[in-house]
Amino acid sequence: MFLGSHIGLSGPGYYLSSVQTALDYGENTFMFYTGAPQNTLRKPLDSMKIAEGREFLRANGIDESKLVVHAPYIINLANKDKESTFSLAKEFLVAELRRTEAFGVSRLVLHPGSHVGLGVEHGMESLLLGLDEVLSQDGTKVTVCLETMSGKGSEVGVNLEFFQEFLSRFSYSSRIGICLDTCHMNDAGYDVSDASALLDEFDRVLGLSRLQVVHLNDSKNVKGAHKDRHENIGYGTIGFKALHSFVVEPRLAEIPIILETPYIGEKAPYQQEISMLRQGRFDSSWREKLI
Ligand code: FE
Ligand code: FE
Ligand code: ZN
Repeated sequence: MFLGSHIGLSGPGYYLSSVQTALDYGENTFMFYTGAPQNTLRKPLDSMKIAEGREFLRANGIDESKLVVHAPYIINLANKDKESTFSLAKEFLVAELRRTEAFGVSRLVLHPGSHVGLGVEHGMESLLLGLDEVLSQDGTKVTVCLETMSGKGSEVGVNLEFFQEFLSRFSYSSRIGICLDTCHMNDAGYDVSDASALLDEFDRVLGLSRLQVVHLNDSKNVKGAHKDRHENIGYGTIGFKALHSFVVEPRLAEIPIILETPYIGEKAPYQQEISMLRQGRFDSSWREKLI
């Protein structure tokens, strides 16, 4: 299994520190933003200790092909009518795909965006247009992994059929993958209590080969709440048993599984959560022990 978490990328150690942190948590893959998740300010690549980080990965036998970059979540390609935001999103994404490749990473997770009141079909057409332009000019081989969303606000990509239609209409579909987020799927109304049943459904609608990343999060809200608030593994409405079924699912053995669960105060929960998931045993007091 390939199990990891979201890891920060900041100075002075930059990428080298991110890799060291992931290894300290017992991870054999991880996901990072190339800068702050909420803005598009990015440091020059040559200041981010990329070569040192990649060398450290190699020395520790980590399979770089399983690593994941997440695009900043302010990128919105689902509303072409707001021209300044739309063109900024396209421009940034071209640069982000090139940055991702410069890190040696081949999977970039992207939120499909929000139609801001103009309807799902408008969102679909905007995303088709925007991504077509981006993928015709970035010149990389990076796979864009569109993430399944909870349906908060006017988000698009809330059900698998949206992606099915997108793929059937998109010219560069060979460069598109899907990132399945368990919290978002639950909040969107899917039953995520059994990985195997959910993957059967995924396979029926999209084909399993599209699945390129799993975000493994518990949820603070009930199924269908359309909220998107992540909870620590075993503390939410999805529960440990259901989430553990993803980790041991044979069809996910080659897919990076990434935790994006909340910090406990200042402390990252990932070492404890990953250890419980690997052992298949929930310790109901780990969170208290961390404080
Ligand atoms: Fe995301
Ligand atoms: Fe996610
Ligand atoms: Zn989320």
